[in-house]
Amino acid sequence: MTSDNTAIIRKIKKLKKEKNAVILAHLYQDLEIQHAADFCGDSFELAKKARSTDAENIIFCGVSFMAESAKILNPEKHVFIPRKDAGCRMADMITKDDVLKLKEKHPSAAVVCYINSSADTKSVCDMCVTSSNSLKIIKNMKENEIIFVPDKNLGSYIAKQLPEKKFHFFNGFCPVHNNIKLEELKKAKELHPGSLVLVHPECRPEISDAADFVGSTSAIINFVKESNEKSFIIGTEKAIVEKLTEECPEKDVFLIADHVVCRNMKLTSLEDLLYTLEDLDDEVILPDGVMISARTCLDNMMKAGSAK
Ligand code: SF4
Repeated sequence: MTSDNTAIIRKIKKLKKEKNAVILAHLYQDLEIQHAADFCGDSFELAKKARSTDAENIIFCGVSFMAESAKILNPEKHVFIPRKDAGCRMADMITKDDVLKLKEKHPSAAVVCYINSSADTKSVCDMCVTSSNSLKIIKNMKENEIIFVPDKNLGSYIAKQLPEKKFHFFNGFCPVHNNIKLEELKKAKELHPGSLVLVHPECRPEISDAADFVGSTSAIINFVKESNEKSFIIGTEKAIVEKLTEECPEKDVFLIADHVVCRNMKLTSLEDLLYTLEDLDDEVILPDGVMISARTCLDNMMKAGSAK
């Protein structure tokens, strides 16, 4: 870490105490942002943390749907995102009207949305899920017919494991994970023979099928930490490789292909975070109707996700 960064992080830590703020950072954020945060996690962990914090102000370092979810779960708190222009290309692929059309086509199906969707999209869905809890939640749902939006890759991964349920998908995907090709996986295995391949379920089905382990970002991190193996090829965002390299120096961790980087996740800088804390201006605000309906969808996930 440079001395400039150390000085900024010191200022950030002082200010967050003065302003009664908590900093939450997604695991795909640059490591310097994660070093300044109070808590780092995947979408489900951050949603739980956002709900349990006592702080009056939540600074969410991630992309916009995450800050929206934090606001929906904490309507009485002030939520800020250092870069309002940090969107999610998958979340932007679907609108509320697309969901309404699918509902019209399949009226008996329950609508499950991946948390990587806008508050507006969530407002017309029955249940929200993340990559870490989706299988358990959908398995336990009473409905046998499911409309799953927006990620067709995560949807097919779940559907394969729940043949007793009928699924309808939307043609959405995460361009960062969807761009990983089978040839790249094979090349990475040739370059690093003997390595285990761990991938995120947002990857294409042929990538998940060829992997040794498929799981959420947190599940991938835990797998590497707990494994007796020494070498791993990672099929998810580059920051996970950087984090594992930092936290498990005794292991060899390789990115499956150089392009697996989410540009929106990299927009936030330490300066953006500092200025957000200094100003506490331009908080996340959502229309009341969207807040109420999207909250039901997220609350359903929190209840179902915690159920045994
Ligand atoms: S990695 Fe993909 S799903 Fe995650 S924020 Fe970036 S575009 Fe969205």
